[in-house]
Amino acid sequence: MAMTLYFPIRQGNPMAPCSRCPSPAVFFQRASGRHYCEAHLREDVERRVKRALGGAGLRPGERVAVGLSGGKDSASTLFLLRRLRPRLDLVAVTVDEGIAGYRSETLKAAETLTERLGVAHRVVRFAEAFGTTTDGAVAGGDTHPCSACGVLRRTLLNRAAREAGAARLATGHNLDDEAQTVLMNLFRGDSERVQRQNFPADLPGALPRLKPLRRVPEREVALYALLNGLPVSFAECPHSGRSFRGEVRNLLNDLETRHPGTKYAVVRGFEGLLARLRPSEGAPAVACRVCGEASARGVCEACQLLESEPPRVSPT
Ligand code: SF4
Repeated sequence: MAMTLYFPIRQGNPMAPCSRCPSPAVFFQRASGRHYCEAHLREDVERRVKRALGGAGLRPGERVAVGLSGGKDSASTLFLLRRLRPRLDLVAVTVDEGIAGYRSETLKAAETLTERLGVAHRVVRFAEAFGTTTDGAVAGGDTHPCSACGVLRRTLLNRAAREAGAARLATGHNLDDEAQTVLMNLFRGDSERVQRQNFPADLPGALPRLKPLRRVPEREVALYALLNGLPVSFAECPHSGRSFRGEVRNLLNDLETRHPGTKYAVVRGFEGLLARLRPSEGAPAVACRVCGEASARGVCEACQLLESEPPRVSPT
């Protein structure tokens, strides 16, 4: 199988069999020191996802929206929910931020996957919802479009999922994403956002979140998607190089290379800290005065962006 072309076994013994059976290994998991064949890597990923879903209290027939970008993480999330929880009523939601040459490609992958899985698919666009696009913001002089783009995408995804009748919103955040978010909030000294990370369901109108891949590293998600033949786009957003997240990603990857298991440790340590907080210590629950969406303050972050002077996002 061609997977080793994408994921060469650089560490460990390249000739080693799977740690669980005599089959040839396709992946070396540095954090555990185990080699995995295709079947056992799939099994190991699914074991961690089942564990994440186990405590979520999902009910048969419950409608769950899945934020589907068309990339490997969200595609794997939708595939795994369909495979491991076939009685859920799934609906996929894709947000088109208006990024030429990027979103159009990932949209095609999202459409192919939803057709293959027989899942309803809804596409919502910045241009229609906010009268702006991320490319428009860049053309208007925003040299760091990610903060505005991320806020507007979260808002629109939540709104579209709620309008689709979903009781929850599943996202493709993997272990790398979670570790990056913890460090980004700490590096920014944003204690309010750190607290909110644990209590998003306290906010009015905010759907409870489900992150089935939160304990699966990005490389393993990518390999899982390839091993299962999922139609995914590996296109990168042309603006991603400008982000603070990109810098934190590089830092964490460097630490992980020299100290395997760092990403798990960051997330585990953070969850341990938050578990000591009482829910009442979370951010206060209010509805945005402008749009009624979830907000930790009087006006949500999306409306603050759209109404700021000078505007943080430019019209299309
Ligand atoms: Fe938006 Fe930045 Fe992500 Fe591109 S990399 S989609 S600009 S948040």
